[in-house]
This record gives sequence, C-alpha cells and structure tokens, in this order.
Amino acid sequence: MRTHSVTYESFSGWVEAPTDLRPAVEGKVTCQVAVIGGGIGGMSTALRLAQRGQDVVLVEAEFCGHGSSSRNAGQLAGAPGGDLQLLNLLSRKKMPGMMRLAEHAAHHVEDFIAKHDIDCEYEPTGNAFAAVSRGQMGRVRRVANIVTRAGGHVEVGTAEELGIPRGLVGGMRETIGGRMNPGKFSLGMRRVLLDSAAQVFEQTRVTDVVREGGQVVVTTPRGRVLADHVVLATNAFAGEWDITPKHLSVPIYVIEVETEPIDPARIAALGWTSGMGLVTQHAIMENYRLTPRNTIVFGVRRLERGTSYPLPDKTPDPGLVEELAGAFARRFPSLADVAVDRAWGGWIAITSSWLPLAGRIGDNIHYSIACNGHGLAQAPYVGTLIADAIVDGELHEDLRTLWHDKPRFPRPMMMGRPGLRTIWAIDRFNDMLNGSRRNARRGATVPS
Ligand SMILES: Cc1cc2nc3c(=O)[nH]c(=O)nc-3n(C[C@H](O)[C@H](O)[C@H](O)COP(=O)(O)OP(=O)(O)OC[C@H]3O[C@@H](n4cnc5c(N)ncnc54)[C@H](O)[C@@H]3O)c2cc1C
Repeated sequence: MRTHSVTYESFSGWVEAPTDLRPAVEGKVTCQVAVIGGGIGGMSTALRLAQRGQDVVLVEAEFCGHGSSSRNAGQLAGAPGGDLQLLNLLSRKKMPGMMRLAEHAAHHVEDFIAKHDIDCEYEPTGNAFAAVSRGQMGRVRRVANIVTRAGGHVEVGTAEELGIPRGLVGGMRETIGGRMNPGKFSLGMRRVLLDSAAQVFEQTRVTDVVREGGQVVVTTPRGRVLADHVVLATNAFAGEWDITPKHLSVPIYVIEVETEPIDPARIAALGWTSGMGLVTQHAIMENYRLTPRNTIVFGVRRLERGTSYPLPDKTPDPGLVEELAGAFARRFPSLADVAVDRAWGGWIAITSSWLPLAGRIGDNIHYSIACNGHGLAQAPYVGTLIADAIVDGELHEDLRTLWHDKPRFPRPMMMGRPGLRTIWAIDRFNDMLNGSRRNARRGATVPS
C-alpha cells in the first residue's frame, strides 16, 4: 500500500472546521446550568436542558465538534464497547443494563438524525465484530453468547453469510446501528444547538472549576461563568482540573486513515455486500468501513497514552500509518496497491472498568465520561439522560447502570506505555501465528 503522499490532518478527514465561531466568554455570565465541552455529549446535554426550559450555557475550548466527535470512524454501535468477555467476567450483573443502554443509545442517535434531518450519510447497516482467524472466530462465538444472554440482538455467520469481505473468516453482526459521516453529524448537531435557546461560547478554554458558596464558578481566560449546576463533558480532557475525580479515565490518542477513491468494481469484488463497518477481535482492534466516496477508512491498532494536561494537538505518527497500511494490505490483498490519502487522530478517554461512567460530585457537579471508543452512540444518549436527571432530580434506569454515587475509581491497569506496548505485541504475536497456520494449510513454508 502506498503511503508517500499522505495528508496529515490536524482536525478531521470528514469535514472542514466551521467558520462561524461563537464568541468567547467575556466578564461575568450567570446561568442555571453550565456545560463544559461541546462534543456530541455536551451538546446533547445543553440542547436537552434548553428544550426543558433551563437557562443553559455551553463553554467550548475551540468549536463545538472539535474533539473526537468529528474525528471518529462513524460506526454507530449497538453493543457496549470494551472487551465483552472481560466485562462479563468482572461485571456480569451489569451486562443486561449495558446491553439495553447500548441499543437505546443507537436508537436515540438514529431518532435525533431523523428528527433534525441531519445530512450525515447515515445508513443503518449494523456493524460486525469481524474474525481475521479461526481463533478470533472462537472469540466471536463466545462474545455472541454473552451478548445474546444479556438480551442483545446479534447474528453469527461466515463472511459470505454476513456480506463482509471474503478474506475474513466470519463474524457477529450487531443488527442495531450503522455507519455515518461523524463530522457532518457533529456539525449538524452544532447547528441545531446554535438555533436553540442555549447560550454557546466557543474559543473559551475553561481553566478551573470550583465551588463557591452554593454555586459553581467556571474560570476562563477573560471571564467567569457562575452556575447552580455544572456538567463536565470534556471527555479525554477531563483530568485538567482538581475537581475531577482521581483516576476517572486515561487519555488515549487513536488514529484513522483513509484510502484514495477506489474503483467501485474493485470494492464490489471484495464481497462486502452488507456495507457494515468492521472491528477485528484483536485486544486492540482494527476497524474498517466503506464511505460513500468509494474510499475505505480504517484505523486504531495502537493506543498512545497522553501523559500531561493540556493534551497536545497532534497529528498521527507516520510509523503507525505505515503499520496500519501494512495491516490493510494483508486484510485486503486485492487492494494492496491502493494509496493512503490522509490520516487524522483524536483523544478518547478509557476508564479502568472499560465501562462508560456518569455521576455527581457533591450535589451540583455532574460528569459523564469515556464511552471507551463507543461514544458516537452513547455520549449523546448519556448526555441527554444527565440533562433529564438535573431537571427531574431522578435517574433514568439506563443512567443508573453507569451511575457512581461515590466518585472513587481504581488506577487503570495496563494503561501505561509499557502495558499498552505489551498488549500490542501480543496482538502481533497472534497475527504471526495465524499467518504461519494459514500458510501451513496452503502448503507454504514461509510465514506471512
Ligand atoms: C479516531 C477515533 C475513532 C473513533 N471511532 C468511533 C466509532 O467508530 N464509534 C464510536 O462509537 N466511537 C468512536 N470513537 C469515540 C467517540 O468519538 C467518542 O467517544 C465521542 O465522540 C465522545 O464524545 P464527547 O462529547 O464525550 O467528547 P469530545 O468529542 O472529545 O468532546 C469534548 C470537547 O471538550 C472540549 N474541551 C476540552 N477541554 C476543554 C476545556 N478545558 N474547556 C472547554 N472545552 C474543552 C474539546 O474541545 C471537545 O470539543 C472514536 C474516537 C476517535 C478519536
């Protein structure tokens, strides 16, 4: 795969940044609820609060949609994120609630797109847990049992049965969810928010959040916001303030890469008739999806830990782009000559349990964090439920699944650089073994 003329985007490959930015906070602003962070999570919270008659202010460091909300792979998942076998082992009782939440979240986003007529190329294709080896297929079957027992809706089949590329062994189809252009979705949501009664301040990096009297004071470079309630919705950037619970999450940088446009006949020859987005069953997944511009967007495979706040603006490491291109060529040998056109990345938050979290610090600071790479569906839904909890004073049962009354979290395991490197190496070792087994079956003598 050719990687010599890649454009490294500092924002996203899906859309251009908006030009109609809202002004920054100046002087003193008062409100009932202040939401910090204008991703799809924070925007959904602010929108719902405005719709429910609250005087709400949203404060965003750059522009609404600047974070991972516009940069992700656009795979709207209908199942929880993380390692479902591990989650089942450690949090079995929570699995039915997590499953319900995941499916409701995907439907919530679909309804939002339809209600506001957001042009984000959404197609309800479902997504597949894809197996690149027989070992991964065993894992897919075990995960499918767990998901089905928890009340989820999935189908297991061969690549041909599911309509996923023929080079794969098979997979598990999540029947709920699909694929979209996440940049268009985020900026579409921004448009709905700007047209609402919420006051939106962009270009305003919050530098501190403290309690003063019965109120919360949000400090920014040129002014302060005084609110009765605050919602922290900055995702990976949550650790910037002392008020954030310790070990709430770990910031991780992940990337996506897009090919040049591919001849539709060559795409058709892959047998990818369902058009479903794919995630492999490595410990650190690879994801692959088609786009309406006849390209393939793919990514992740390696997690890079952020070590200090504020998190830097980054572009992808060319070495990782090369590595992803190598993996692409092995998964799609017939497209090994296609070039990589561009690459971008973003910060996600991973929690120690790999579960999304929400809760309250004291009685007036709410947080919602870390849909662990599955936030395209879950961040807007959880954000909406938090808005309802503030107005109604009670928790929806889906929010109760994630809720932490006491914001105490264990230090995340294996999330340091050596731990992440080890997980990556185990994936590569398994890939090598699978390559050798495949070659042995074909009678070859050299491992791939
Ligand atoms: C490369 C990549 C691929 C992914 N693929 C998928 C996928 O296919 N499917 C899926 O479900 N999920 C995916 N995700 C995860 C998903 O994008 C996120 O879980 C989701 O967008 C989180 O939304 P959010 O609103 O919580 O956070 P964000 O979108 O990150 O928003 C946080 C906002 O807070 C702002 N902010 C930060 N600090 C401050 C401050 N101090 N003051 C004010 N504002 C601040 C930021 O500018 C940002 O706009 C992916 C993520 C990445 C990066």
